[in-house]
Amino acid sequence: SLDFAGKLAKKLGAKVREDVVHAVDGVDLQVRKGEVVGLVGESGCGKSTLGRMVAGIMPPSAGTVLWHGRDLKSLSAAEARQAKLRTQMIFQDPYASLNPRLQVQEIVGEAPQVHGLVPRGGLETYVDEQLRRAGLDPALKRRYPHQFSGGQRQRIGIARALAVQPDFLVCDEAVAALDVSIQAQILNLFMKLRRELDLTYLFISHDLGVVEHLSDRVVIMYLGRVVEEAPAEEVFARPNHPYTRALLAEVPRIEARKRAFAGVKGEIPSPLNPPSGCHFHPRCPFAMERCKAERPALREIAPGHRSACHLNDAA
Ligand code: SF4
Repeated sequence: SLDFAGKLAKKLGAKVREDVVHAVDGVDLQVRKGEVVGLVGESGCGKSTLGRMVAGIMPPSAGTVLWHGRDLKSLSAAEARQAKLRTQMIFQDPYASLNPRLQVQEIVGEAPQVHGLVPRGGLETYVDEQLRRAGLDPALKRRYPHQFSGGQRQRIGIARALAVQPDFLVCDEAVAALDVSIQAQILNLFMKLRRELDLTYLFISHDLGVVEHLSDRVVIMYLGRVVEEAPAEEVFARPNHPYTRALLAEVPRIEARKRAFAGVKGEIPSPLNPPSGCHFHPRCPFAMERCKAERPALREIAPGHRSACHLNDAA
């Protein structure tokens, strides 16, 4: 499991050095082995920061990340290397992280070779196997990234991640840049890999519709805080938090949802100066005086279903 609670001061330059941005603020997130957790929110809500911390790419300035129950900071160098290899991140734009001067076979084969995961003389077979697993024809392995489509490049990124034998994939907007039909193919690939390789996923997306079919559990974030968390079917059948309900209204396929809500109004406020009390109050159609002053606690409203809204106190 992974637990995280932290805050972050970043990218603000000398001008606002005194400020601390709570990109992720008091979040406690657990991902159990074999589970797919969908982490959803608008851009700027802190979900990517959280994903990077979970993947060990960015250390939290406060709080802890537990890997199989152990604090990442307490691991020996060899254990930390293992943890890093076992947790791989898949990004929105694989092209940015694919070296344009390397052939696909080098991109996929480099890390497993460095980490001694391939038997001597077996690299070519090993690379072919990873490409095939990611749905790419090994005959294309001598090509360069620019010779592939966006969907194929994402498959190269996936093959590269699989090549180091991870058990946990953190996918950050991994299908956001793709056409809808290609999105479905890549999502199906993730689910196939889950079954074949017993993978665990943290699936980060701004789009609830994308996480709906693959998540066991959904966590909704707003301005650095978790506002709702529940088993996926519960979130879609009985959304509680006004922000979740507004996000659901943006998922196009269910008309009934649209009647109740018209989507999330207005821009997400700056994390530099978040609204007081419930961060969502300036955009919430149900906001009360209390919401401006008092932060709602994330509390259980049904088994496994937690929500942070003062409206639940009246229930
Ligand atoms: Fe809306 Fe208040 Fe609930 Fe926040 S606490 S979501 S402002 S009703």
